[in-house]
Amino acid sequence: MTVALITGVSGQDGSYLAESLVARGYEVHGVVRDPGEPITAGVVAHDLDLAAGSAIGQLIRDLRPHHVYNLAAVSSVFTSWSEPSLTARLNGLAVAEMLAAVRELGTLGHETRFVQASSAEMFGMPVQSPQTESTPIRPTSPYGAAKAYAHGLVGAYRGAGVFATSLVLYNHESPRRPETFVTRKITAAAARIALGQQERLELGNLDARRDWGWAPDYADALYLAATAAEPDDFIIATGVSHSVADFVRVAFERAGVEDWASRVDVAPGLLRTGDAAEQVGDASKARSQLNWAPTVDFDGIVAAMVEADLELARHTR
Ligand code: GDP
Repeated sequence: MTVALITGVSGQDGSYLAESLVARGYEVHGVVRDPGEPITAGVVAHDLDLAAGSAIGQLIRDLRPHHVYNLAAVSSVFTSWSEPSLTARLNGLAVAEMLAAVRELGTLGHETRFVQASSAEMFGMPVQSPQTESTPIRPTSPYGAAKAYAHGLVGAYRGAGVFATSLVLYNHESPRRPETFVTRKITAAAARIALGQQERLELGNLDARRDWGWAPDYADALYLAATAAEPDDFIIATGVSHSVADFVRVAFERAGVEDWASRVDVAPGLLRTGDAAEQVGDASKARSQLNWAPTVDFDGIVAAMVEADLELARHTR
């Protein structure tokens, strides 16, 4: 039986990936922070702190998994400014612990394939558009800096003979996204406004353009990377960007709210330092080498999220 270990298993990506691996008959283990965290049925939970010491390395040595998917992270760029040290430990150093354990298993004759969830945030204010695997890495946030370190480590261990792949995942969304991310914040508000449960919505930079994809497609990319012939770095993106304002407009239309602009306030406190004007990725390499392609477009993502939030809001009336 193939054994997979997922860090961040209770998050959006972890839950989609866990469901697909359980369905494929894998023995799936997941790292959780708190014993009470909700976790996909059939997954064995391991309660440990990734940011503290070598517990994760020990777990890998004991479990001897065939795949490790590292999805745990301080996931908010905004929070990384108030928690830079935690961000460095969780998004950066924990990856060193994991790769050292994976390499050690390799010396004992056991291959563990390591897949890292990297982020377009590593490119900071990107010097080219769309970004590719060779775009210069110049982070502009503590989050991006820690992800850049981990991405570099993956390349170093790959050079040392470890099966280590880094997927540079652009923003990917679903009804499982928490409201700390702008897409879900918008769709949840659109639904509540449509049902008369909320009046207005406060947002930050409406002009930021992001390459938003459908989260289950990105979970598929993680699996394709782990089962590929060779490890490598890949951009995972749709290649199409939209502004935050575009997202609001389409979401409010879908929810049946007219004149979105009159409902939205820009709060200066929500503007970010080092926020890229545009992130958009070129996933040609993943398309040709991993046979990966996005299956849901921008309108489809917004529609699915608004429908799920309308359903939720009707039940919490
Ligand atoms: P991130 O790229 O992982 O940080 O994903 P987010 O969904 O948090 O942010 C995406 C973009 O939306 C960034 O450019 C933010 O500056 C922008 N944005 C604008 N208003 C907001 C807001 O109210 N909340 C969040 N989270 N992002 C916002």
